[in-house]
Amino acid sequence: MSLTDETERRLEEAEAHIRTAMAKEFCHVMDKTGLPPMAVLRLAAQAVGSIYCEAADAHSGPRACPCGWCPHQPSDIEILGMALVTACRMRRAEDLASTPVAGTA
Ligand SMILES: [Zn+2]
Repeated sequence: MSLTDETERRLEEAEAHIRTAMAKEFCHVMDKTGLPPMAVLRLAAQAVGSIYCEAADAHSGPRACPCGWCPHQPSDIEILGMALVTACRMRRAEDLASTPVAGTA
């Protein structure tokens, strides 16, 4: 297994784990609070932003984590925003591709 395959496998495993955990919490919070889906999804997006800031803080300054990540807020935030947009569009494209054509034109 190449390093790229191993990295890809770890990314897929992490994606599945995070998606499952967030979907579970999304349903739980809606059931518990009665808040509408967009309110809860907005809170989830805010939580990602907040976690980003905490992680960036932990990687800045004299006592920064030594793992080597150097946060760069403008491009990091753009990457996070693009990930959100890309995931929404990919899912929408998958849904449209699997929807049977209704009627004839
Ligand atoms: Zn680190």
